Amino acid sequence: MKDGIHLDFDERLYHNGPPCSEDNGHKFAFDDDGRFVCSHCGEEESISKSGLWDLYGRTPRHYRFAPPKEHMPHLDFGKALHLAVLEPELFETKAVQGPVDRRGNKWKDALGAIEDGQILLISDNYDDCYTVQSEAWKHPVVKKLATETSIFEASAFWHHERTGLQCRCRPDLVVPKMKLMVDLKTTADASAWNWARTAGNLGYHVQEGMYTEGWNKAGGDPTEAFIFVVIEQKAPFCTAVYELPPHAAEEGRMVMERALDRYKECLESNKWPGYPERVVELDIPKFSYRESEPPEL
Ligand SMILES: [Zn+2]
Repeated sequence: MKDGIHLDFDERLYHNGPPCSEDNGHKFAFDDDGRFVCSHCGEEESISKSGLWDLYGRTPRHYRFAPPKEHMPHLDFGKALHLAVLEPELFETKAVQGPVDRRGNKWKDALGAIEDGQILLISDNYDDCYTVQSEAWKHPVVKKLATETSIFEASAFWHHERTGLQCRCRPDLVVPKMKLMVDLKTTADASAWNWARTAGNLGYHVQEGMYTEGWNKAGGDPTEAFIFVVIEQKAPFCTAVYELPPHAAEEGRMVMERALDRYKECLESNKWPGYPERVVELDIPKFSYRESEPPEL
């Protein structure tokens, strides 16, 4: 994909990349400029934050052999919630209230009747979007975001300077006037305790570093802040807004650099190792020690 910011970019194309012009698929290799491109169609491979996090936080094998992201109807609810809360006008045109469930011909007919780009929701989910919207807007920060002119789900592609590899990101919302990037997460539990663990486990600190840098490199106006709007999907539909302290964002940037190095090594060697093939000594986490003091690291 060409470097730059692509508006209205298809989500599946973003996640899976375009198919190859040849029937037997892409044949990637490094070209003379150090770019990892397909010798059939010229498409360049790019990596996202979730790819880097799979590769770094789990193993290169988990990244390389992950199944392609398919369209999953239950994820449409989350997508519709994003729209309802952050882009209410888009929600009105894109979300369609469907039958009470996804069974039988009624659902098939409803799917056939929607336009390309629209989201079909089961009836209750559609109503829930309005409930979540009105509850989330009680949070003054969220209410303000919904009234600002913003860029919703643009896809950014850029080349990472040091490694020369192409990266991509897709921020939920960029608010140029506020120099702000926003990520919306829906969750069962938005408490600070749970959120901090989730953010660490899923590498949201890496997301902040990569998205902020990438957006700017791809040609977007620089952003100065990054916030997570965390919305609970069940009554009483509470919302919390979090930002990471600078040292956590810096850790995220360091992980990104390290993970990109690892990715490049794997591309060059075409080796995608899984877990170590030996016995690994593994301590329990510090907080699991109850009867004795954990050893100092
Ligand atoms: Zn190709």
